[in-house]
Amino acid sequence: MLIPRLRARRIAAAVLAVATLAGCAASKPDHPKWTDTAAPPPAVASSAVAASPASSEAAPPSASPAAKPSKTQATTTAAAPPAGVNYGDRLPKFDRAPKADKVHLPEGNLAAYYSRIPTDQPVAFITIDDGQVKRPEALDLIKQAGVPVTLFLMIDAIRNDPQYFKRLQDAGAVIEAHTVTHQSLRGKSYNVQRKEICDSADKLGNWYGRRPVLFRPPYGEKDDTTLKASHDCGMHAAFFWKETVDKGIVRYQQGNTVQRGDIILMHFRDRFVDDFIAALQAIKAAGLTPALLEDYIP
Ligand SMILES: [Zn+2]
Repeated sequence: MLIPRLRARRIAAAVLAVATLAGCAASKPDHPKWTDTAAPPPAVASSAVAASPASSEAAPPSASPAAKPSKTQATTTAAAPPAGVNYGDRLPKFDRAPKADKVHLPEGNLAAYYSRIPTDQPVAFITIDDGQVKRPEALDLIKQAGVPVTLFLMIDAIRNDPQYFKRLQDAGAVIEAHTVTHQSLRGKSYNVQRKEICDSADKLGNWYGRRPVLFRPPYGEKDDTTLKASHDCGMHAAFFWKETVDKGIVRYQQGNTVQRGDIILMHFRDRFVDDFIAALQAIKAAGLTPALLEDYIP
């Protein structure tokens, strides 16, 4: 008796998950190309929610076996993340960002490269990389914080659940390119580098309706070929960083405070909430306001 009942329950859960996924796609009929990524079966969709133990910047994504499906995970993945957590007390309040003074990009056939935007305006920039770990709290947190963020997404890390990032995009996040496979580009041939950059931008353009114009090389490792290929792929600029955030701790490359124009790097990791709030608090402590990187690049 027990076995058939369990089986029936599993089938019901799977049907529910598939129906919800389909519903999601159907609700965006004008959104063209979810279909060129095979729709993940419920079990794979569940693994998108499960935290991956791998460090997202340290290693390219492995095709990790799907986590065991559970009702909770399937529901969380397919529907909107659970609402109701109020981060209010932990979120600093910011002045509105000033109207951006755009940088003057250098002439030539190389993409510009910045770890700090040259500006006197009291702003800093939050950038979030990779996409392997898809914590459901991120959406509410970004919405409640009400600050601009730029996501440098790696195709192989997000192809199992592109819709997770569509929800972040709908909340105001801007999606930019970070290669297909996350291999280090420095020293690689022009063709290899160009393929990683162009293909990732094309794919993101198909998925999210806007082709990226900014690029971050994996591990921050680049050479002039990277900047040439970035330029040729339509990238206006590429970026390193001045601060990194991990496990709720901000690490500074220079000094111990965020400077005007600094680009802050964090990742989609298990402690997304702590990292994001640590970045906000560091910006607040420096008397700055989060601004949108794209607003500063012509
Ligand atoms: Zn990365």
